[in-house]
Amino acid sequence: MTTAILSALPEEQQGLLERLQHVRAQRRAGRDFWLGELHGQPVVLALSRIGKVAAATTATTLIEALGVQRVVFTGVAGGLGPGVQVGDVVVAQEFVQHDMDASPIFPRYQIPLYGRERFACDPQLAQALLAATQRGLQRLGLEAAVHHGLVASGDRFVSAAQEARALRAALQEAGHAPLAVEMEGAAVAQVCHDYGIPFAAMRTISDRADDTAHVDFPKFVSEVASRYALAILDEFVRELK
Ligand code: SAH
Repeated sequence: MTTAILSALPEEQQGLLERLQHVRAQRRAGRDFWLGELHGQPVVLALSRIGKVAAATTATTLIEALGVQRVVFTGVAGGLGPGVQVGDVVVAQEFVQHDMDASPIFPRYQIPLYGRERFACDPQLAQALLAATQRGLQRLGLEAAVHHGLVASGDRFVSAAQEARALRAALQEAGHAPLAVEMEGAAVAQVCHDYGIPFAAMRTISDRADDTAHVDFPKFVSEVASRYALAILDEFVRELK
């Protein structure tokens, strides 16, 4: 069973790419796909690219053209939930699109024609990723908190405290309590739902989606996110069956 490992950023992909065995490259839809093996498991490494549409194209290509049978995502995100701090990790349970609003025709946040507001991750794959996250952090000697719950995605880099508060309040009013905000996960979750492919995702918290997010984000990505992604995914692939 071939597993796609989608990274949001090149820094997060680099370590995995260096360890990939029997590498074959394919270029499709303007994207590079790296096929090979990690710990004897067939995998395809790809960059999701940024934003919902780009990530959906990458996911669709992985499934349609490269035949992957499950998808795992690693990236960084802004912390939204109380107690979700920079350096923590969020393993997604479900995704909501915070910028989906076809009201009053459909209820706010509902994905038209799906009759639902959230897409869930595969419970088994998410549990495996959660366990790998704990082992990976241990291996790095880090005592970062690991959260498991709802992640909100939308085509916006949330970089103002006021905006983060408003986003959280509006979601909460509709019964959604997001732990983190990013720009791709809900799109990949929807594509995987369409194809019946198991999906799981983890995000390291790079910023608090507030007024210093634009400073915290690049610093964090270059200094720590890459180490987290490698340690966690290495642990994850090791246990894949
Ligand atoms: N100029 C940056 C752009 C990255 S956009 C670069 O290419 O280096 C931010 C990325 O990190 C997206 O992939 C998104 O999923 C995630 N992210 C991190 N913090 C975020 C926040 N506060 N709001 C939205 N997305 C965030």
